[in-house]
Amino acid sequence: MAKKIEQQIKFCKKCNKNTIHIKNGEEIKWLMHLVLAIFTAGMWLIPFFAMLIWKGLTSPIPGTGGGSGGSGWICGECGE
Ligand SMILES: [Zn+2]
Repeated sequence: MAKKIEQQIKFCKKCNKNTIHIKNGEEIKWLMHLVLAIFTAGMWLIPFFAMLIWKGLTSPIPGTGGGSGGSGWICGECGE
């Protein structure tokens, strides 16, 4: 499954200007999955739940393992 990457213009303290920030998002878009489940007559729920279980096994404590500790946004210029 492809990773969701979001982009947004945010103010970077290190660059001291507005730069493109990239979010390597791991959050689940519930609405998207719901729509997919409806369109596939529930078939989507099988890989979806498999993914949820897999995620639960591979990342038991989300948000504590990262080193940067930010909100997940990375500056596109300096990488902060
Ligand atoms: Zn920056």
